[in-house]
Amino acid sequence: MSQSAYQVSPRELGTLLPDQPSYRVDQLREWLYEHPVLDPADMTNLPGDVRNTLRLWPFAAEIEQSADGGRTRKWLFRAPDGASIESVLMGYERRTTLCISSQAGCAMACTFCATGQFGFERHLDAGEIVAQVAYANAALRSRPIAGSPARVTNVVFMGMGEPLANYTNLRESLHRMIEVIDLAARSVTVSTVGVIPGIRRLADEPWQIGLAISLHAADDELRNTLIPLNTRYPLAELVEAARYFFNRTGRRVSIEWTLMDGVNDTADQAEKLASIAQQLRAHVNVIAMNPTPLTAQQAPGRLAIDDFMKELSRHGANATYRETRGQEIDAACGQLRIRGLTEEGET
Ligand code: SAH
Repeated sequence: MSQSAYQVSPRELGTLLPDQPSYRVDQLREWLYEHPVLDPADMTNLPGDVRNTLRLWPFAAEIEQSADGGRTRKWLFRAPDGASIESVLMGYERRTTLCISSQAGCAMACTFCATGQFGFERHLDAGEIVAQVAYANAALRSRPIAGSPARVTNVVFMGMGEPLANYTNLRESLHRMIEVIDLAARSVTVSTVGVIPGIRRLADEPWQIGLAISLHAADDELRNTLIPLNTRYPLAELVEAARYFFNRTGRRVSIEWTLMDGVNDTADQAEKLASIAQQLRAHVNVIAMNPTPLTAQQAPGRLAIDDFMKELSRHGANATYRETRGQEIDAACGQLRIRGLTEEGET
């Protein structure tokens, strides 16, 4: 099968239109990145034979589901080789946020994450990463979320995969989002479990991108049990890399904390977390564990959540508790991949 137009660099799109004048290449680039459409037939200013032969998307939308009264939408895309790619779109009052995948599956094996338990399939290429944003923009154009911007305004790399373990493709996808789609670097957030060399490389890029660190434990002893990568890149070095990112980019990092009942919801963890957050001047985002069939951890009760948040603020941390979205369509953090699993009977 021929390459999708997103799998060709925006600078080399001419190779897809060998017999066409150069303004056609500009028109195609606009259709792909500036005002994408779901169907190439709608690229109305391009000649019919171009529209008929163009392979637009690198994947097919296999499942589209919505939740939260239509304000959350999830897509399961399938690449021709069978790899699954999931994206979740969330409409808010002033922003429309797309959560995208950087890999099919994930090699990090975090014990509380369904994708991590499923294992690694393959890296996504830059075209497959950026096409998730273009696809969401095309879908929003035909069917916006009422009360939210009709374009993706924010992108978070919090779907499947560890983006900093796929650096070259991540970098090219960021380049296209920022320089070609024209998304503000500040509204794109890369989330990592703590791939230290990747954090340092990202800090040296010319963009004021957001960085979220999935911390989840504030000492090595506990973190080693939740996040195997911590044994390679321990906490003190991770905090040092986060500080480097802050110094280089001027952007405060954010800390993600998935609260797990009886695991990391103690006063002791709150105090240690508050100390790390203050060192980094970081904001802490706390969410409750989304239970999955592949993982053992559970969400704490309301009272334990409140106590944890109180402890954090007592110790001077800047923290927000966030309600999760999309739980009923398995679109919440750490739940991606569940549907595929149960359908394939692998659970
Ligand atoms: N690999 C990257 C991005 C993917 S996960 C990272 O680790 O940051 C996005 C976020 O969801 C991470 O903070 C991750 O720790 C969190 N997460 C994973 N499984 C979860 C679960 N079952 N419940 C709640 N959050 C989860």
